Amino acid sequence: PPAAQPVVVIDAHDLPYLNPKLPIKHRVADLLARMTVSEKVGQMTQAERNALRSRADIASYALGSLLSGGGSVPAPNTPAAWAAMIDTFQLNAQATRLQIPLIYGVDAVHGHNNVVGATILPHNIAIGATRDPELARRTGEVTATEVRATGIPWDFAPCVCVVRDDRWGRTYEAYGEDPALVQSMATVITGLQGKPNGSQLARNDRVLATAKHFVGDGGTTYGSSTTGSYTIDQGVTEVSRQQLETIHLAPFGTAVELGVGTVMPSYSSLSVDGGAPVKMHGNGELINGVLKQRMGFDGFVISDWQAIDQLPGDYASDIRTSINAGLDMIMVPTNYQDFTRGLTEEIAAGRIPAARIDDAVRRILTEKFKLGLFEHPYADTSNSASIGTAEHRAVGRAAAAKSQVLLKNESNLLPLAPTSKLYVAGSNANDLGNQMGGWSISWQGGSGTTTTGTTILDGIRQVAPTATYSADASAPLDGHDVGVVVVGERPYAEGIGDVGNGHDLLLSVADKAAVDKVCGAMKCVVLIVSGRPQVITDQLGKINALVASWLPGTEGAGVADVLFGKVPFSGRLPVSWPRTQEQQPLNVGDASYDPQYPFGWGLTTQAAARQALTEARNSLLRKHDPYAVAAGVAASVALRVQDWSGPQATIALAAAAQSATFLERTKADTFAEDDAVVGVARWIAQNHVGQNLNEPASKLISDADHALLTGQLSIAVAKLTATTR
Ligand code: BGC
Repeated sequence: PPAAQPVVVIDAHDLPYLNPKLPIKHRVADLLARMTVSEKVGQMTQAERNALRSRADIASYALGSLLSGGGSVPAPNTPAAWAAMIDTFQLNAQATRLQIPLIYGVDAVHGHNNVVGATILPHNIAIGATRDPELARRTGEVTATEVRATGIPWDFAPCVCVVRDDRWGRTYEAYGEDPALVQSMATVITGLQGKPNGSQLARNDRVLATAKHFVGDGGTTYGSSTTGSYTIDQGVTEVSRQQLETIHLAPFGTAVELGVGTVMPSYSSLSVDGGAPVKMHGNGELINGVLKQRMGFDGFVISDWQAIDQLPGDYASDIRTSINAGLDMIMVPTNYQDFTRGLTEEIAAGRIPAARIDDAVRRILTEKFKLGLFEHPYADTSNSASIGTAEHRAVGRAAAAKSQVLLKNESNLLPLAPTSKLYVAGSNANDLGNQMGGWSISWQGGSGTTTTGTTILDGIRQVAPTATYSADASAPLDGHDVGVVVVGERPYAEGIGDVGNGHDLLLSVADKAAVDKVCGAMKCVVLIVSGRPQVITDQLGKINALVASWLPGTEGAGVADVLFGKVPFSGRLPVSWPRTQEQQPLNVGDASYDPQYPFGWGLTTQAAARQALTEARNSLLRKHDPYAVAAGVAASVALRVQDWSGPQATIALAAAAQSATFLERTKADTFAEDDAVVGVARWIAQNHVGQNLNEPASKLISDADHALLTGQLSIAVAKLTATTR
């Protein structure tokens, strides 16, 4: 290790970089010019807080950043302990020559999931099911407020991965399989960071975000033709140039437009058009070339945990390759001694250009200035009362409710009557840890009551207090009206998923037994609490109603809200639901697409459809309002829907909303009925059928016909395709 440097705190008062009135660019240039090579190297180093031999190393290595990562030994878990811990580290950073503040980072991927008592939101896959970009933005705000209140200014989220094979153990970190869906959910970045120019980052309710993992993390090949092994996590993404652009790069383009402050490369390798796979942490063509130059990303690139060690060659070569490829800060995370020495040697030998180092440090300092860390290095805990507050939990509850996807609803079994005699069973009915999934209190998450929250059973009993509960369905079954069986996965993070289930998408033996037993004895609803689809084909015949509940987080009452009809079902599948596990990878647009339930599928209930129809009729009474007329058109479509519980009802409802949006966009002050109908048709074509407008016209027409058998709509679709041909 370097000899401990005497700490000389400079009299900094009139130095330009410490003057908040000067533009950030000016401050960065001033500071950079004062820095030694070791100070620059330190800025590029992120160490894990438990790996510090002593806190004094923060100053002696001039460390720029610390983290508590998923793989870290669990950190303190109360808000006050977090803030106090970060302040002690910052104190050491403030005892350096230039007093450059540390930037501390954590993974808060669904709320502040590191802290007991925080609001843990549904995982991203559930947010994708809501199709609600404003809700996604709000989840970012809730997360940012709680994270910053514990003194942490940086969140390694969101994952803007596009999941193409649900056997991937990070499927739930994705918003879905469709790039456009993922792009629409990137609003979470705005919730985390505020305005794209970074002008709100210094606020006590904002944090720096990280778009990860660049690029293709969700597209790795299972049983890669290149490696021959089942490396679905951290494996090889084998794509054409066009697939790379349209599927995997597109969400990063959106993230950059929204001003995301940092980007994390993927552990995976990339093989384009059959070329040799290149590890993303050494992929200069993509990081320097596409991300920084073409997309104009001006934040900094942070490596993944110890990921540069996976590059070919010795450690010096790992350092050189990654930094020359465009990485700015390395999550070392334990061997900061070797890393700082190695980086210093590479610079001295001229194998990493000085200009590359200055560029990296400039990027890092710029974000630190934007975050206001030079002015306020210590934790601002003024928002700490917001952690796990009723207001934030209400967001979690609403998100959980909106994310529920009704896959099947025979004879309108749902919504349940609060007075019916319910029999609740299954491994995930009353387990807070299971319904939160991975990245919850600990990296892998864990079953049981690991924090404060409401299980699905708690939520059901708030409405139906006398509901029977028997996890394994051993309690007597007689005398109940409806069974509610909650099955699914146990928590996991990264890798290939729920090991207990045999690395697959199949229900456990115990879960299947609970379904068989309860559904064999009474009418039943099955809820699947999981991070990805579970194959249910063999049980489907005995299940009357089926719900994909995803991983709803701490607010299980949100699930009860839709079960009892307090909130209408409106979720839609963010991924295709397979019939068999062997169908993976299974994605909308595949040549032979034969899912159990297609991407975008989601029923609503009779009551919800009726209510929307009534509202549409009422709004028709105000004829001067174009929205009203649009809603009226949608209502006339909805009126023809025969099966109220069928997908047509969902389509009609969504179409009502969409036609209003369409009219708003076209700013029509005079109303033409055709416009609204075309709006409806366009929405169906783009969103429900899941095809874009470049598909052959005949396919569009037949899909739209199939979706909604109304003469008027068919004409509209024909008109539409004629204009887009
Ligand atoms: C994960 C990243 C995460 C990092 C820090 C890695 O294992 O791949 O997503 O941000 O750890 O916890």
